[in-house]
Amino acid sequence: MRKVYLDYSATTPVKQEVLNEMIPYFTEKFGNPSSLYEIGAEAKEAITKAREQVAQLIGAKSQEVIFTSCGSESDNWALTSAAHWKKAKGNHIITTKIEHHAILHTCQALEKEGFEVTYLNVTPEGRIDLKELKDAITDRTILISIMMVNNEMGAIQPIKEAAAMAKERGILFHTDAVQAGGNVPIDVEELQVDMLSLSAHKIYGPKGIGAMYIRKGVALPPFLHGGAQEMKRRAGTENVPYIVGFGKAAEIARLQLSEHMERLSRLRDYFIAQVQERIPYVDVNGGMEHRHPGNANLAFNFIEGESLLLLLDYNGISISTGSACSSKSLEPSHVLSALGVPVEKIHGSLRFSIGDFTTKEDLDYTVECLVKIVEKLRALSPVSAEKGWN
Ligand SMILES: *Cc1c(COP(=O)(O)O)cnc(C)c1O
Repeated sequence: MRKVYLDYSATTPVKQEVLNEMIPYFTEKFGNPSSLYEIGAEAKEAITKAREQVAQLIGAKSQEVIFTSCGSESDNWALTSAAHWKKAKGNHIITTKIEHHAILHTCQALEKEGFEVTYLNVTPEGRIDLKELKDAITDRTILISIMMVNNEMGAIQPIKEAAAMAKERGILFHTDAVQAGGNVPIDVEELQVDMLSLSAHKIYGPKGIGAMYIRKGVALPPFLHGGAQEMKRRAGTENVPYIVGFGKAAEIARLQLSEHMERLSRLRDYFIAQVQERIPYVDVNGGMEHRHPGNANLAFNFIEGESLLLLLDYNGISISTGSACSSKSLEPSHVLSALGVPVEKIHGSLRFSIGDFTTKEDLDYTVECLVKIVEKLRALSPVSAEKGWN
């Protein structure tokens, strides 16, 4: 049976060139980068090179990039440390209703400590309203965190404009750019953000390694205390092979960015057009204009997305209902809810995310399967276009 992977927003495979760079650092080049003898120095040099590669992906200086264990750690660090650091100035944080749980659950933990959090609404396209952001800022606002690209429906936020509002008021600005990395251009100088989170496994690097950009001059306190690694900003013996892999993945992502974006959006648009041509009552969730090039979040009206997902899985096709983290719960997606998508429609929504190894044949096969499965499920469904939702 054909195997089709359309869940690149959940994770990506490690590219062969990335793995090749990593392997020697598990075995012959195993030294601790803090050691003074040769294999230690060799490991240290490898980290320096990787830091430069990740920095280049986002237009940063290499000293502004700190390696962490994952995107979630970067998000937790940015919010928790910034909140505690700026507590004397105020207790108000602004974020959005559509953030990843690494941000939302950290905000909830901070609320338990007494911080107040404003969760901005989004339009049906999935974007924040800058006027609403402006109105939400008070004299007690200490931090604004807005994701650059949404993981469920791909909306790209006006980060430059939002960060400028924060800067004008002397407020720290963080962006979760985990989905943006390697999928849209990122230039921290243009954006003028203070902090930015990245993760390797969303850009064809290994899982369990992330990074945080911290603008020069922003004295964000450490989150993990211990040794003097990572310029004294993040303790723990460096995960050298994974850092090397992240660096290589970032280099490839940077060199191939425009080609990657062009190819993904072409395949994605083809897929959506085919699905809508062959299957009635399918809507795209979110707007098409400011969107991750590989994201197609589709609402199949009058059926349960879970059933569709399972039947696609029987046919060798891997997709998800939205965020990998909420796919085990039956709660309707907080992201699609914030867009104003009705609950019944959310239950029929699936995220197809296209990546570098996706081919047109994969998509044609997926469309064929969808046509058959959707027809079967709709025949069994108690609701339909004629009957309407009950
Ligand atoms: C995947 C993801 C994260 C978490 O990154 P991990 O490295 O898996 O911890 C955070 N934010 C967004 C938007 C993501 O897509």
